[in-house]
Amino acid sequence: MKYVECNGCKQMIYLTGAQIGHVEEGDLHIDYFTCPYCGKKYVSFASDVPMRELITRRRALQEKLKVAQANKFREKTIRQYVRAVDKIKAQQEKMMPALLERANAAVAGEGADHGEEEEKEG
Ligand SMILES: [Zn+2]
Repeated sequence: MKYVECNGCKQMIYLTGAQIGHVEEGDLHIDYFTCPYCGKKYVSFASDVPMRELITRRRALQEKLKVAQANKFREKTIRQYVRAVDKIKAQQEKMMPALLERANAAVAGEGADHGEEEEKEG
C-alpha cells in the first residue's frame, strides 16, 4: 500500500482497496482512485483496445526476453527482443496522454455533484 498526496486538498491519501475503482466507457477501461477527503478522482491507468493489444504483446515479448536471457540466447536475439519491447513502450508512451485525458474526462463526469471549478492562478 502506498500514500499519495491529493493535489486538490493536500491531504495524504492512504490507498486502500475501497478507494480504488474501475470503470469502462466503451472500449476505454479506467483504473482510478478517489480522495476520501475531497472526492477528487485520480486516474491511475487507462487503456483502450489498441493499448491493451500493446500490453499483451509487450508482456509476451518480455516473457520471451526472460527466457532468452535465462538460456543465454545469442546476443543478437536478445537485442531484437529488447528493441521490440522498447518500440512498444514508445508507442504506449505516445498513446498514454490522450488516453489519460479521455479517462480523466470520463471519471470527472461520473457522479459529478455540481463541484465548483476553481481556477486560481497562483
Ligand atoms: Zn483531496
